[in-house]
Amino acid sequence: MDELRYQVDLLNAINQKLTNDEKMYRLICNTSNSAFIYQDLKENVIRTAGNWSFYFDFTIKEFSDITILFGYVEENYITALRDLLDLEKFGLKRDSAIIKLRDSQIWVECEAAVIYDDFGIPLEKVLRFKNITKLKNQNDELTYMAYYDVLTGLYNRNYFVRLLGDFIRKAEAANDIISVMFIDIDDFRKVNDSMGIIIGDEIMQQFGQFLSEFKSEQVLVSHFNGDIYCIAIYNPFGNRSVEAIHKAIQKRLGLPFSLSTGQEVTISVSVGVAEYPEAARTTLELINCAEIVMFKAKSSGSGTIQFFDAPILQDFLNNVAIENKLKEAVFNQNFILHFQPQYTSNDKKLRGMETLIRWRDYDGKMISPMTFIPIAEKNGAIIPIGTWVIEESIRIYSTWKKTYRQDMILSLNISAIQYARNDFIDTVLSIISKYDVDPRGIELEITESVLINDFKDIREKLHILREYGIRISLDDFGTGFSSLSYLKGLPIDTLKIDKSFIDTVITDSNTRIITESIIYMVKKLGFETVAEGVETEEQFEYLKSIGCDCIQGYLLGRPMPPGDLEKDVLQCL
Ligand code: C2E
Ligand code: CA
Ligand code: CA
Repeated sequence: MDELRYQVDLLNAINQKLTNDEKMYRLICNTSNSAFIYQDLKENVIRTAGNWSFYFDFTIKEFSDITILFGYVEENYITALRDLLDLEKFGLKRDSAIIKLRDSQIWVECEAAVIYDDFGIPLEKVLRFKNITKLKNQNDELTYMAYYDVLTGLYNRNYFVRLLGDFIRKAEAANDIISVMFIDIDDFRKVNDSMGIIIGDEIMQQFGQFLSEFKSEQVLVSHFNGDIYCIAIYNPFGNRSVEAIHKAIQKRLGLPFSLSTGQEVTISVSVGVAEYPEAARTTLELINCAEIVMFKAKSSGSGTIQFFDAPILQDFLNNVAIENKLKEAVFNQNFILHFQPQYTSNDKKLRGMETLIRWRDYDGKMISPMTFIPIAEKNGAIIPIGTWVIEESIRIYSTWKKTYRQDMILSLNISAIQYARNDFIDTVLSIISKYDVDPRGIELEITESVLINDFKDIREKLHILREYGIRISLDDFGTGFSSLSYLKGLPIDTLKIDKSFIDTVITDSNTRIITESIIYMVKKLGFETVAEGVETEEQFEYLKSIGCDCIQGYLLGRPMPPGDLEKDVLQCL
């Protein structure tokens, strides 16, 4: 009896536990976002559970109903679903597939699991449908962002590099050619600064859209970032030759872009071209070569195209080496100053001296200012270098003035970048006062190119400097646009006639006519004239005869270290 009671209690307890477990599992199913199908394969029982109604508007009561599911799935995914529904027929235990539901844009992950008995007979099966739309979209977006530029829809840099790699492998095997066009919008920063980045983006987008017209199996078009685009052409010829594409771009850019704000903007681009295998054999080198020659194109004026050329690359590499060394030189102050005397032509009296910077590389090699000044101007090193030149030469000059003569003039070359700085005037004035020199003995040289960039601002600064008594001299006259009429508005004391005139003044009658008329006009305007690069007695006599006031050149004195100038020039006064 006790034994029987025990059995009954045990059964009750098991039943109780079963219903509790079942309750729990039901709850889990029903609160889950997934939909489930349970199949008892032996008893032919089928039941649905979980969030079924979210996915399907029918219920499954019988085994045969399950095929209705096919009508709820997009065509392409029916086979995958059928494989899951028939999982036990393949003797598989578990599998899954990603399926898109018809009409609802919902992506589901469908998982199937089958339980077998010890003899491999399938007993039960569960199918689970889980909504993964959000995940899938995020994933798609990530994939898109990994390959495409969101703004223009063109390939991004990374993907372009990958596809160009494929091009190169193919071209290597087939002995084919690939051209890479590196395209950069000119002065894009000005557009962004003056019109705002929203407008900037719109232009980038419209131009990108235009470039996408060249896309084909042989032509990859990409937007690297900002104002840079890159095109790779497999076997360029005919209407997909570099020339044809460049011509089409130029034609389009002849017309303005119409913006959503109603404004119209015209842009130009500089293009660098490098070809596989001539310029380089690897993807990144090829792009680099195209970029380097693009810079060359830019420096020869906006809207130009430049094809790869080995000397351009060499120049670039030299400049990079110089730029790196320059940083060190600025830090170590590896510069020295030379001074070149200037004389009056009438009585060969010392007028003054021009400071010319010298850079002795650590291996003893001299690097010309013509080479490193433009690089220093580009990377900003000209500011500390230029300030050092001003201070060091004024320091030396102040000792000379005290020891030798009062009325000599010190000429300093000043770069456009220095003039553009707001603190330029203060820097000059504070050095002048530190060494207690008369500002009327200091002459700042300026080239025409400085004036072209920002005429108004520079003119104002020159006026202020001149009010303090500082002299202004226009250097390299004759190499720029040399219009005498604009000189009238400038506070100038001296005009330096460029060496290129002096070189041919004896041999070329045209140069003579021009030089004579320049000197005639300049004298009328009341400026002093200095001829530079005078190397022969003949040149000197001629310049003197036509009324040129002062002479500077190897004939009368080369640029020399301060000690030499003191010994050879100042002590002989
Ligand atoms: P620049 O101002 O036109 O200087 C005259 C250049 O002609 C100097 O070259 C000088 O050495 C050279 N020269 C003078 N007389 C003769 C001659 O009779 N025959 C020949 N063949 N050449 C002569 P350098 O010193 O190589 O300077 C080149 C340029 O570098 C200068 O041209 C100037 O634009 C720039 N530069 C030099 N020093 C400085 C500086 O401290 N700051 C800045 N910003 N630029 C400088
Ligand atoms: Ca000069
Ligand atoms: Ca000059």
